[in-house]
Amino acid sequence: MGTSTVNRLERATGVAALKHPEYTGPNRCWPCTLLNLAIAALLSLAVAAATTLWVPDTGVATLTGSIVAVLSVVVVYFRGYLVPGTPALTRRYFPAWLLDWFGKPPARTHTAVDPRATLVSMGVLVDDLAAEDVVLDAAFAAAWQERITAYWDDEDAVRATVAELAGTTRDRVEFESYPEMLVAFDGPDRIASWESRPACVADAAAATTLPAFDSTWEQRPLAIRAELLGALRLFVETCPACGGTVSLRTEVVESCCSSRDVIAATCVSCDARLFEVDAPPDLLAAG
Ligand SMILES: [Zn+2]
Repeated sequence: MGTSTVNRLERATGVAALKHPEYTGPNRCWPCTLLNLAIAALLSLAVAAATTLWVPDTGVATLTGSIVAVLSVVVVYFRGYLVPGTPALTRRYFPAWLLDWFGKPPARTHTAVDPRATLVSMGVLVDDLAAEDVVLDAAFAAAWQERITAYWDDEDAVRATVAELAGTTRDRVEFESYPEMLVAFDGPDRIASWESRPACVADAAAATTLPAFDSTWEQRPLAIRAELLGALRLFVETCPACGGTVSLRTEVVESCCSSRDVIAATCVSCDARLFEVDAPPDLLAAG
């Protein structure tokens, strides 16, 4: 059974709603899951061994061991872990190389384009001599902001834009919120995810504003359009959710069993996360 079939079954039967979203689905931590399954296996063997001390019958021991094994797997499936506190245990006792091997949260796919140079060539980012950096072109910034305001209260328009980007139809797209993540599904298939709803609205608004500035926008491959939209979010100055100021800074993000340094764009008023990317080590060294 493929992942999408499992997703569809879970969503259709309501099982998805029973899961502990912080530790399952896209947030499941595989080191913790595997550690807990190993603990479950040891526990089942121990229960089976203990059973033979009371009832000298291997059939009964197999039964009790199996019951414990099945219950444990069910608990890990719904809660993400069996033993309370294992996230901390894993963080403490799993060597870093092993955690690395399981992979950090899905890395952004890097395409052949340089997003910053491309956005400059499109004229939506311009040199700011005073800041010695690039900033949003004023006309683009105003058009984008206007579209963000319109999209904020229009979930259907956001859905339609995301559907068009993903090459599907609006009635097939569904959004689901997870802690610190908004995921778009096309039926059972996961098509995109964002740091938050404000990030998704900013992308949808930019995707419909950009064609006026870039005549080849519609011809650009989806992966490149997605990367350009993500890069643009670094330049959002006003929070789509509350109008607060968005600030860019490096932060340490604690996941259940590891911590990593990220560059994040966050609203100082409502804490909405607009952009997050792993910080390159050279940047951290430079402070
Ligand atoms: Zn805000």
